[in-house]
Amino acid sequence: MKLHEYQSKFQFADFGIPVPQGQVAATPQEAFQIAKESNGPVVVKAQVLVGGRGKAGGVKLARTPEEAEKYAGEILGMQIKGLTVKKVLIDPAAKINHEIYLGVTTDRAARRTVMIASAAGGVDIEEVAATTPEKIIRVHVDPFLGLRDYQARDIAGMIGLPRETWRQFIEIAKGLYQAYLESDASLAEINPLVVTGDGDLLAVDGKMVLDDNGLFRHPILAEMRDIDEESPSEFQARQAGLSYVDLDGEIGCMVNGAGLAMATMDMIKLFGGEPANFLDIGGGAQSEKVAVALRIILSDKNVKAVLFNIFGGITRCDEVARGILTALEEIQVDIPMVARLVGTNQEEGRAILAEAKMTTAATLAEAAQKAVAAAHSKA
Ligand code: GDP
Ligand code: MN
Repeated sequence: MKLHEYQSKFQFADFGIPVPQGQVAATPQEAFQIAKESNGPVVVKAQVLVGGRGKAGGVKLARTPEEAEKYAGEILGMQIKGLTVKKVLIDPAAKINHEIYLGVTTDRAARRTVMIASAAGGVDIEEVAATTPEKIIRVHVDPFLGLRDYQARDIAGMIGLPRETWRQFIEIAKGLYQAYLESDASLAEINPLVVTGDGDLLAVDGKMVLDDNGLFRHPILAEMRDIDEESPSEFQARQAGLSYVDLDGEIGCMVNGAGLAMATMDMIKLFGGEPANFLDIGGGAQSEKVAVALRIILSDKNVKAVLFNIFGGITRCDEVARGILTALEEIQVDIPMVARLVGTNQEEGRAILAEAKMTTAATLAEAAQKAVAAAHSKA
């Protein structure tokens, strides 16, 4: 789950990171009021869950409340990378001398948390990383010791921060690491962290990505989810308790168990197809849940064939088959479907599906081959 900029900065502030004291507006009039109270120039910033807002025209400096109102009017309703802006953040404008990048994430290869920093922060950081990777500094954090002061000091030196800011930087770096750790985040990022005209450090932008599996430990953060900003299929899937990830291929997959789902996707690729999604309906799925899953799969316009791979244990094959039929009663589709059902109540399950004239397969390899062939003949 991604947090908005204003939410991330709230969270950062809790960990002692200095952030602008801004407020969120949903209308140009609110923007005017906030700018008026803030008594000075402000930045009007689109709150959408994508990066690159500045380059897309979603960040504007306003000198007066009237200007803030005008820019808010332009930015609200704007589309940025396919998302509609519904809120703007009005921050008191900072006087920026220098923009640096500071982030914390997981380095899977190193099996460690890594702090990433660069003197070349700001809107072009992706290009810096691609063309001059030597300008990006990485420091791994020992999980038992946490981020040490000397590591933060080293980073400050390597990115050439003025010595007067080092003490502040160390507190910010440790705060960011702690915010990442204690929120069960997979990313905590400040870009840019700026050196202001007064020589202070200030987190002008903020971004956090939280691990959904850790959200139950953070009810306050979980509440912050902005469902306006999610794809409808992912929202429906989460509501139904399904693990679903949308992909680009043409074969929709419905599988019980994450490992089996991965194996199914591998098998599809092995026989020359591309999976349209990852979907784990979970153990013991009832027919209604199966029906929701199938509706989600079929709402993807790229899907040319569907593969069901069910290993019945706690999950009963007849229950799954009934769910498939329930969904098919409502949705009229001529998309070929292949089912492999094995395990608990497999005979009943297969008999139900045979009535629906669905192609069945005895093994996963056979099922994958049939699904790929069906998808390709449709294409
Ligand atoms: P992003 O493009 O989505 O990453 O949005 P940012 O919040 O990072 O803003 C983009 C750029 O706008 C920053 O890199 C700054 O150069 C500029 N900017 C943002 N806030 C301020 C501010 O308070 N004062 C000034 N002068 N520039 C700002
Ligand atoms: Mn930014």
